Amino acid sequence: MTLQNATQALKKYFGYDQFRPLQADIIQAVYDNRDVLVLMPTGGGKSICYQIPAVTLDGTAVVISPLIALMKDQVEGLSANGIPAAYINSSMDAAQIRRVEDAALDGHIRVLYVSPEKMVSQGFQPLLKRLKISLFAVDEAHCISAWGHDFRPEYTQLKFLKEQYPGVPMIALTATADKLTRKDIVSQLELNDPATFIASFDRPNISLTVASGQKRFEQIVAFLKERPRQSGIIYCLSRKNCEILAEKLNQKGFRAAYYHADMPASKRSQTQEDFINDRVPIVCATIAFGMGIDKSNVRFVIHYNLPRNMEGYYQEIGRAGRDGLPADAVLFFSYADVMSYRDMFEQGDSPQEQKDLKIAKLERMFQFAEALICRRKTVLNYFGEPYDQNCGNCDVCKNPPRQFDGTVAAQKALSAILRTGEKVGMNLLVDILRGSSKRDIFDNNYHQIKTYGAGKEYSYNDWLYFLLQMMHLGLIEVAYDDRHRLRVTGEGNKVLFDGKKVPLAMPIPKEQQQERAPRSAEKPRAQLLREELFERLVQLRRAVAQRQGVPPYLIFSDATLQIMAEKHPVTDNAMKEISGVGERKLQLYGDVFIGEIRKFVAEKKGEGHQVRGGTQIVTWEMFRDGHSVEDIAQTRGLAVTTIHSHLSSMYELGESLDISRWIEPEECDVIQGALHLFEEPYQLRPIMDHFDGRYSFDKIRWAIADARRRSREQE
Ligand code: ADP
Ligand code: ZN
Repeated sequence: MTLQNATQALKKYFGYDQFRPLQADIIQAVYDNRDVLVLMPTGGGKSICYQIPAVTLDGTAVVISPLIALMKDQVEGLSANGIPAAYINSSMDAAQIRRVEDAALDGHIRVLYVSPEKMVSQGFQPLLKRLKISLFAVDEAHCISAWGHDFRPEYTQLKFLKEQYPGVPMIALTATADKLTRKDIVSQLELNDPATFIASFDRPNISLTVASGQKRFEQIVAFLKERPRQSGIIYCLSRKNCEILAEKLNQKGFRAAYYHADMPASKRSQTQEDFINDRVPIVCATIAFGMGIDKSNVRFVIHYNLPRNMEGYYQEIGRAGRDGLPADAVLFFSYADVMSYRDMFEQGDSPQEQKDLKIAKLERMFQFAEALICRRKTVLNYFGEPYDQNCGNCDVCKNPPRQFDGTVAAQKALSAILRTGEKVGMNLLVDILRGSSKRDIFDNNYHQIKTYGAGKEYSYNDWLYFLLQMMHLGLIEVAYDDRHRLRVTGEGNKVLFDGKKVPLAMPIPKEQQQERAPRSAEKPRAQLLREELFERLVQLRRAVAQRQGVPPYLIFSDATLQIMAEKHPVTDNAMKEISGVGERKLQLYGDVFIGEIRKFVAEKKGEGHQVRGGTQIVTWEMFRDGHSVEDIAQTRGLAVTTIHSHLSSMYELGESLDISRWIEPEECDVIQGALHLFEEPYQLRPIMDHFDGRYSFDKIRWAIADARRRSREQE
């Protein structure tokens, strides 16, 4: 089997034109009959790595997968692409299992998903023995590691596979990258000198933002308003909070549900189904939500509270943007969260060693949130992946903080801490500095100390921001064991008494921050049309999905719909070229989607918009297949001039075409030089008259198309 076969299968079944980094190498290693270990982040494209070998090699690929929900999803996805697939697990009765077994033995199944329990059970062995197995794939292979949080004891019994089927290649896949897990996988599965592939864990399409925890509800509302109908998860720390937040969002007119471990199982799975099927776009959830959700069009993940460690953070935000389209991860950071975690960890009755580890990890999380360096750099370095550049897609890169000499501000804060006898926590300290008239202040006579009101020039948030930095610089520390009082350290004393300088960063006011997305009035018209068509295709997808009883993203991904909204495929040929449209989906859904796009194109043309589509595309396809203009005119029974007008508008819309065969560059220049004398939309006749008929209509058309294309490109 060769990579060429693999590439053809990729297009035929999945509709993709090329492999992502490493996918081809991994597939080649399987073809070479090697064992393989794959470490790739969520959304990296692991499934293709065993599914392509499965459809190109003889026999059945047996996939061990730990979650029934995911199995079902994968099988539906494969079936939708015309790949015969099935699963066997404990949710099925004997007759159902029997049917699948028979189909497998008859060679009708290319990919067979099996739960680990079933795999190791005695009852399953006779089938395995009689099956022609092309490869074994062990999905979520980290479940083998007793160190990890997803430990599944049956996984450790899987070594019998290599012992009994030594000639069958085995591919183990996981999104957990640490070395210990990796070693566990190789040794426990008894992989034979495995080819190991470690993909970058960067997810460049997810933009990373850390925002202040102040007024987070208002911030979330503003965020959601910019993203109507988009799907996302909001993680909260407490179950109660999930409910409250969902309720408040509903009151604001958003459709939000909640999800946590205290709900009855039926309610939980209902919420999950509603989310997966795009019926409820927003779910407020504890971290119990997400495992087993394969939905590719999650557009944002918000952390209402600070995650407890970087591992959790990265895993949770990884659920966004699996389709590769832009997605947002927003984390709200408040010092109060750090304090409540600390209390929680301290109070638990686990051994001190474990408590310390948890606190150390929390510390790293907290440093990530308050540090003023590129977020992606911090995350990837934390996971041991060197990353030197600034990513350009995080809040720090987009709005680099302004450094200033903060010595005086720091001195005011330090002096106030000392004058309270080191008795106050962060919030009260800021109240003192800002001269607040809260009762706490008068009760303790803090209004009489010298630094009361000495920091009015900075806002409450500015001060919190400064204090965090001062903590980071080691000037102050928090007595966690004593009501979180602030204390001045030795370094802090140097600032007060030895004139040590303190560089601080100023938060950038909201108004000055780079605008996230242009408001619709400012968007170019082409973009508005694209968004409108995308929205219609999303609706159509939902209707089709509902009729068929499958999740919408299994019909076409958002990424595929985006490309359709851009390219307007209105013929089978054009549709086939869209990434994500394989043969089966073209057959099943091609007509419906083409119909909708045609309707859209006709409508927009009727409204006088310049849009790509319809008859123009038929001309364009024939031209691209090598027919001459005259040829096309004859075949289609249209005038030659009409064909020129079709081709020139396709050119204007960005198709690549050598126009010099119809118009010399000099002629083009001359005509374009006169265009300012006329008004858009240009009439051809007056321009022709202007040049005393020296240039044909077709030439004038080409010159105009070229001018418009250029100005479009500048837009
Ligand atoms: P993982 O299992 O690693 O989380 P998936 O296998 O679910 O990731 O793939 C994530 C998404 O990327 C899916 O929508 C998948 O169809 C898409 N994808 C995978 N490989 C390619 C490719 N070569 N070209 C385009 N899209 C791809
Ligand atoms: Zn960055």
